[in-house]
Amino acid sequence: MSARILDGRSIAQEIRREVRLEVGELTKRTGSVPCLATVLVGNDPASTTYVRNKVRACEEVGIVSVRIDLPADLSQEALLHEIARLNRDPSVHAVLVQLPLPPHISERRVLEAVLPGKDVDGFHPSNLGGLLAGSPLFVASTPLGILELLTRSNVAVEGKHAVIVGWSVVVGKPTAFLLLQQQATVTICHIKTRDLGFHTRQADILVVAAGKPGLVTGSMVKEGAVVIDVGVNRLADGGIVGDVSFSEVAEKVSLITPVPGGVGPMTVAMLLKNTVQACRLACGAAGRHGVEVVR
Ligand code: NAD
Repeated sequence: MSARILDGRSIAQEIRREVRLEVGELTKRTGSVPCLATVLVGNDPASTTYVRNKVRACEEVGIVSVRIDLPADLSQEALLHEIARLNRDPSVHAVLVQLPLPPHISERRVLEAVLPGKDVDGFHPSNLGGLLAGSPLFVASTPLGILELLTRSNVAVEGKHAVIVGWSVVVGKPTAFLLLQQQATVTICHIKTRDLGFHTRQADILVVAAGKPGLVTGSMVKEGAVVIDVGVNRLADGGIVGDVSFSEVAEKVSLITPVPGGVGPMTVAMLLKNTVQACRLACGAAGRHGVEVVR
């Protein structure tokens, strides 16, 4: 293997240490302790694990976490009522609704109900629109984590050709806009893209977020590229793999994220950062999110 590993786990740990200090400093200055409410509807095992990890990460850095577990047959009205209550509660600075929601509930309706100033997931249309305009209150944690991973690994983005596979609101689209704001040339590919390999071979920076194990193979990457594998795919034997055929791609590229241990830990770390930012906003101690506008 010739590639260097982009170690999300250790960079995330560094960020958590910084967040812990920021929490202490903010509490001392304002008297407020950042508080994140996580809302879980039903008991999907993967979602339950994600929520447990987020709660544990909060506790580790001194963020208060309020866990709200609701039954899978809860009505949409009742969920909206719960979110309205959290929106009104001044001791709750950040609200995260764990996705996916049961099929009888409209995710769009629910995500739109979260107050933009508490929307640490960055999925509210006002924050998505803010990203497009270059001044969001919050950006989704996974795309922010990808950018932070690149920045802290000294990967220059400006002028590079970044190719994103996947155009979801959770990962693909916000990642594309963040990289565009850093003045990369951006190509977005998706399930209908013809000849995916043609596009991925152009990438200086390749971000893959499709949820398809083995989608990107060695012949689909350029020598020396930087590869960010966002995919999380659970195998029948319980193992977890990304969307990139790690061993063959690592032979050709210069930097690559492992799965697990790449983007996943960065996502949690950036959620913690966003929660501290939400507390700052509530205390009137913050400007807009630190995404620089470049035109
Ligand atoms: P999604 O299903 O909403 O979107 C998948 C995207 O991939 C779509 O835009 C689709 O067009 C594209 N796609 C699917 N198959 C393709 C193919 N064969 N060729 C080209 N494009 C294809 O998924 P998502 O929410 O964006 O998540 C993507 C993956 O990232 C999943 O594995 C998910 O578990 C993972 N994920 C990881 C983190 C993390 O923190 N590590 C966070 C969010 C999502």
